[in-house]
Parts: sequence; structure tokens; C-alpha cells
Amino acid sequence: MHSWAGMMVKSDPKNKNSAFHGRGFTKSISEMKQEIQELYLADEVPWVIGYSGGKDSTAVLQLTWLALSELDSRKSKKPVYVITTDTLVENPVVAAWASQSHDAMRKTAQKENLPIRPHMLKPEIRDSFWVNLIGKGYPAPRHKFRWCTERLKIKPSTTFIQNTVNQHGEVILLIGARKAESAARAHSIEKRKEGSPKERLTPHVELFNCLVYTPIEDWTNDDVWTFLMRIPNKWGASHKDLLAMYRGASADNECPLVVDTSTPSCGNSRFGCWVCTLVEEDKSMTAMIQNDEEQEWMLPLLELRNDLDFRTDEARKQDRYRRDFRRMSGHLTHYKNKDGEFALVPGPYTQKSRIMWLTQLLEIQQLIRDNDTAPDSVRNIELISLEELQEIRRIWVVEKHEIEDYIPAIYEEIVGEPYPGLPIDENLIFDQQSLDLLKEVCEGDDLRYELLRNLLDIERKYRTKGSRHGLFKDLEDTVTRSYFENEADATMWAKRKAMLKEMVFVSSDGSEIDHDGLQPNLFSPVIDSDNDTENQA
Ligand code: SF4
Repeated sequence: MHSWAGMMVKSDPKNKNSAFHGRGFTKSISEMKQEIQELYLADEVPWVIGYSGGKDSTAVLQLTWLALSELDSRKSKKPVYVITTDTLVENPVVAAWASQSHDAMRKTAQKENLPIRPHMLKPEIRDSFWVNLIGKGYPAPRHKFRWCTERLKIKPSTTFIQNTVNQHGEVILLIGARKAESAARAHSIEKRKEGSPKERLTPHVELFNCLVYTPIEDWTNDDVWTFLMRIPNKWGASHKDLLAMYRGASADNECPLVVDTSTPSCGNSRFGCWVCTLVEEDKSMTAMIQNDEEQEWMLPLLELRNDLDFRTDEARKQDRYRRDFRRMSGHLTHYKNKDGEFALVPGPYTQKSRIMWLTQLLEIQQLIRDNDTAPDSVRNIELISLEELQEIRRIWVVEKHEIEDYIPAIYEEIVGEPYPGLPIDENLIFDQQSLDLLKEVCEGDDLRYELLRNLLDIERKYRTKGSRHGLFKDLEDTVTRSYFENEADATMWAKRKAMLKEMVFVSSDGSEIDHDGLQPNLFSPVIDSDNDTENQA
């Protein structure tokens, strides 16, 4: 039994579940290296290794590294890309670890003349977590509205793989998936094997011309740790540090490189996003803080994550209060709540809530930067980048007509420096004073203010256009969106409309009257019904 960094790892050669059972550790590893070498030399197809920085993908990379370093360098010509996705909301400790590992890999591979090329992948700015949550107002991710994984993890890696396929015709993807991890994953590995053209490679279920190789699929958790402890890291990172990151947290799972939707939620692992609300709590970050005083600077991150959560009754109420009663499109969608009552499906976060999230995020960033006890490496921590801020600003001002353009002022107040971004729209003619006056005239009626502000902005935009085509449609949509006095009025309206829909009206000649003919007004909001109350925004 080995003990390292506080972890107890059993290395039991008699364990029948162990992949090393029977042949022993050394022979098993030697056979695996041989298998990898044969596969590598079998064709010209480039390899892509999905490396999350966690133990399983580290084991796969380590095995590949060992195998390639024993080959004649003249034979090891085809590229082996090591890809890692940085979601921009990674646990900062893990992000630093992965980035240092990449640097070490790059240098060592160059020195040893190995064809290993690390790539750090990032989501596009428009797909980033904060751009969607603070910019568009998407509610914190939940099981039935998990908008994050596709944008933050799947898209960056599949784009890289598809580009490699376009360049080389085919690709072989090496991942650290193991059957022991979960029944769902085991099923997915088994499924991939059906109809396999080659014995050890299986076609990816979603990616065209991509074959998957899972070299450690039969390994147990203990096999992985045993391997990592017995063979030192080959590119100069430290397995001891990796083990230290795992120390103290409960579930021993991890988030692998995500390339399809069969992967379960990964927020529970050390390698999920720190903002993840798909899990009840961020056990990894909590454990890191509890076990290491030096990590206490992450406490405000944990608090923000918990504030985003909506699980308790109280939090659910808060969540509801923070969101618009209209959907992103301006439509109303109704459903029957658990008490059988008629209710509206909530939409995106309101302007006030989005301002609150941005303020909180920038305050936390500043708090960490100013924290004397935080490590030097986080003194310039960037929880949100200028590019993200500019994109959020564009969405607010251009798409949502929020011409108050609040971001520069919020930034300057919290960071204490002039906002470094360029203006979004040089032609914003209404200054803060005019907008304050408009607000005053509206006497606290937020919807009326929103309606007038949006109409003025639409009119302003069309003023300088060569053609005014589309103006009336935009004006009509805006009026329709702000048709109600408040949420209670909207709910009543939607209820009446739904009741009308259930009734059959007959004209004097006996024919049915179309329900659309019963619209009470020219500007008639669209009403949908939806049983799925979570499918929101
Ligand atoms: S860790 Fe959580 S927030 Fe991040 S992509 Fe996975 S499910 Fe979404």
C-alpha cells in the first residue's frame, strides 16, 4: 500500500478486477506500450490525446509518452496533439496546473525530439459562460437547461478534431475513459465497439472519420494511481502535485475531455467549472479550501457559485425574482405549477440581475487581487476578460437596447481604473442625464421606461439607415414585448388567452371562428404552453 500526499492507494496484485492481475504490473505496462507503438506505426493518421490534467488522461499521455520515447525518432513522425479545454471558468488551481503541464510538455517534447504538440483550447467569446449568463441573461445551468457543456467544452474540442480531420482525412482520438467509472460510460464504450473496423479502435459516434482508442478502459482507479506512482512523470510535471490536488475530496471521479453529450455532468469533479450549478455543491473547491489554508482566497468564488445555485426553496424564489416573466423572444409561456396553478415560465435574468452578477464578479476579482494572503500567481487573476466584457456590453447596448451603457461605470467604480474598452456605439445620443429624466417621468414603472427607451433607440438606429425597411416591425415587436403593466397583468392575460383557446366559437353561419380573430388588441403577445418548466430563457 502506498501513501502519498495523504492518499492511501491499494496496489493489490491479487485483486481480480485489476488490469494488472495475472501478468503483473511490469509485463502489463510493457504489453500496453507495445500495443501503442504498433498502433502508432500502423498508419499516417494523426493522434489527438484529450488531456484534462486529471489522473486518467495523465495516465494515457504518460503511457503514450513512454511508448513513443522508445521508438526510433526517425519513425515517430506523425503528430500527436495533446488538447485541453480551458472553459475560462476552470477552478483556478486546476487551470494553473494544466497550463504549467502544457509548458513542461512543450519544452520536454522539443528537447527529446518527440512529435507531441500541446494545444490549449478555449471557447469562442460569444460562447463563454459569462457572456451567456451576464450578457444574454441565460439562467445558471440546470439539468434540463444545460447550455454550458456544448459551448464551453464540446465545441472547442470537436472543432479542433474536425479541423484535423479536414487537414489529414482522419484522426485517432485517445481518451482516458474507463469502464469502471460509470455504467453509462461503460455502455458508451461498449456501444462504440459495435461494428468496429479495427480491433482496438472504434468509430466515434458523432465525429466523422474519427476513431477512438481507450487504452486504459479496463483499468481500475487503483491501477491508475499505482501506475502514476510507480513511473515518474515523463514531461517534468509532478504526479505528487496531481495527487495533492485530489487529496481530501470525496468522489474520486473526474471530468475527461468532453467531445460528446454522453459524458455526465462534470461539475462534481476536480476538473469541472467553479461556477457549476449542475451539482449540489462544489465539493472539490470546498475540499481544497478546507484542507489547505493557502487556498482560502478561493472562498469568494465558492460564495458566488452558491449564490448562482437555485436548489433550495429560498434560492428558487430568489432565482424566480431575478428573472423576467417573458422569454428571451418576448413571448409568454405558461404551465401548470406543482399546485396545479396557472403560471408563467420564467425567462432570462433581468437587467438588474445581470448588473448584479457583473458587479459581484468584478468585486470578487478585485478582492482576490487585493488579498495579501493569496499566492502571487493570482494577484492578477482575471475572472472575466476585457473581450468578454466588450461582448457583454455589445449585447446589452445593441441587442437589448440598454443604452445606459453601464459597464464602463461599473468597472471604473470597482477596479478603480478607467475602463480600457473602446466605445460600442459612437452614436449613442442619449446621455445618462436624459435617461434619468425619462426614468423620472415614468415614475418607477420599469416596463414603461423600458418600452420608451427601446422605441427611442430603434428610431435612432433607423435615422441614419439608407432604408427604413423593418422599422415598423421592430417598433411593433417592442410594443408587443412591453404590452403589460406587470407580471400579474401578463399572467392574467395569458390565462384568459389560454381559456379562449380551449373554447370553440361559432359564427352566425355555423362556421368556427379562428382564435386569432379574437385577439383583444393589435399588438398581441405570443402565448405558448410548455410542460417543461426548466427549459427556459
Ligand atoms: S462543469 Fe458544470 S458548468 Fe462546466 S461545462 Fe460541465 S456541467 Fe457545465
